[in-house]
Amino acid sequence: MGALPAAVAVLARAADAGASVLLSAHVQPDADALGSTLALAEGLRRRGARVTATFPGPFVLPASLAWLPGADALVPAGDVPADPDLVVGLDAADLRRLGELGPVLLAAPQSLVVDHHASNPGFGAVQLVDPEAAATVALVADLLDGLGVELDAGLATLLYAGLAADTGSFRFGNTSPATHALAARLLATGIDHARISQRLFDTAPFGWLALLGTAAGRATLERDVGAGLVWTWATVGEADDHGLAGDHLEALVDVVRSAQEADVACVLKGAADGSWNVSLRSRGGTDVSAVAIALGGGGHRMAAGFTSHLDRDGTLAAIRRCLRAGAAPEQG
Ligand code: 5GP
Ligand code: MN
Repeated sequence: MGALPAAVAVLARAADAGASVLLSAHVQPDADALGSTLALAEGLRRRGARVTATFPGPFVLPASLAWLPGADALVPAGDVPADPDLVVGLDAADLRRLGELGPVLLAAPQSLVVDHHASNPGFGAVQLVDPEAAATVALVADLLDGLGVELDAGLATLLYAGLAADTGSFRFGNTSPATHALAARLLATGIDHARISQRLFDTAPFGWLALLGTAAGRATLERDVGAGLVWTWATVGEADDHGLAGDHLEALVDVVRSAQEADVACVLKGAADGSWNVSLRSRGGTDVSAVAIALGGGGHRMAAGFTSHLDRDGTLAAIRRCLRAGAAPEQG
């Protein structure tokens, strides 16, 4: 059986039996992780399953995502039902991205992993892992079709949020005719796509401009590292100084990556515990997922990340080493 029919079969069986299903997005969930988790949760609920949706780590939702339909029903990882019949991991590139829910998934009688990261090593009993998919929500759309769940505006809002986020609003190379075909289906349900995009991408407190100024002002260009590296950093403490939550650090890399002299852009985001969450982006010549994997993380060719417990200089030295050695540019 192909991966999609096998995944549909697992979900249909659970729904038909009224089974207890636990769905989890990855730690620090983004729009694709939450959109896919909440959409599949709602679909399974409509099909008769008893559903709980959650994500590991700090139970904090960025304001840009807290409005997603069904987000108010998310349950902290510590409060999920014990012994679910089926555990589904969504948009999690590896087991560690599921945090404390990773062992729960492995221990469950049945498990399913739905993901689109090329770096996914493969885990869970049934795996729907397709790097050709622009976003995990595209795989969830296929699952909902397989389950016979009709796409209404609520589900379409969730799927559109993930699709728009992971394709950079249909700008990135992962955008295909299939991406636009799915987007067309979603828009046909009557969703307010402009409002969704505004809430996701163009809404932040005024203090974000000052944080951006600080981070952009200390950006450093190193032309001789690989095909060029531009990097900067900011901490959750600095975000707090500007009245911002830590998730406002996430959008910085979208600005830094514009520097045309650098094929690779890097933002080091300092967490409260002193560790650094690192975002890497490529302009096309460098596979940044190779760098991220080498340093304990993962992701895609053009967008990847990892967490470092070295200090800032040590983290940067490791990135430079990877860029100079393994992850040499494939094209100019
Ligand atoms: P971001 O920089 O937006 O946090 O992440 C970019 C991409 O890299 C996303 O697809 C994300 O799933 C992946 N990624 C980020 N951090 C990690 C990590 O620590 N481990 C793995 N496996 N993937 C990561
Ligand atoms: Mn994704």
